[in-house]
Amino acid sequence: MNIIIFGPPGAGKGTQSDFIVKKFNLFKLSTGDLLREEINKKTTLGIKIKSIVNSGSLVSDELINSLIEKIVSNINYKNRIIFDGYPRNLSQAENLNKLLLKYEQKIDLVVRLKVSLDVIKKRITGRIVCSKCGKIYNEFFNPPKDEHKCCQKDFLKKRDDDNVDVAIKRYETYEKSTEPVLDYYNKMNLVKNVNGEAKIDVICSEIISFLNIIEA
Ligand SMILES: [Zn+2]
Repeated sequence: MNIIIFGPPGAGKGTQSDFIVKKFNLFKLSTGDLLREEINKKTTLGIKIKSIVNSGSLVSDELINSLIEKIVSNINYKNRIIFDGYPRNLSQAENLNKLLLKYEQKIDLVVRLKVSLDVIKKRITGRIVCSKCGKIYNEFFNPPKDEHKCCQKDFLKKRDDDNVDVAIKRYETYEKSTEPVLDYYNKMNLVKNVNGEAKIDVICSEIISFLNIIEA
């Protein structure tokens, strides 16, 4: 099976996809990783990508698509890809569809992790780090408990408003660009909405139940 995982930055996509990759022996295709890999290998393409990134420009859809084709055409990854962070826009989604057809594959499921902007903000602003032991808490979701003796005083509360502004911007960009992509997959009846505000293991078992149906 090939699946796509969608979710705004900070939704916990990474955690979930890493778990699914292990459990279902999938290959995680992240465009960020692909780009970094190509740069590190210093291929002709890698050198080109590096100069684009260094100049502050965005890597073109065309270039990304050629990297995606490398993976989709690889027999070792056939029907076992989880797409993370791709497709980002409608043109990429249409291209992916063409590519998959060319290599006799398809998307079986689109998992959409839904998390509100409010929760994402709280995940950032509620972050507390114990300056003694380094344990990380969240005042809204995971407050320090009495039994953690060392974490009762000397709290180092991080409150970086810059981070929040960046997060809001990234969230809005995500919403705007992925809406048409979700419509596209909705028309194919492939989208499953998952409450990304639930506990990590609850989210995980919900995703697993969807995947088990496909595998059966
Ligand atoms: Zn502590």
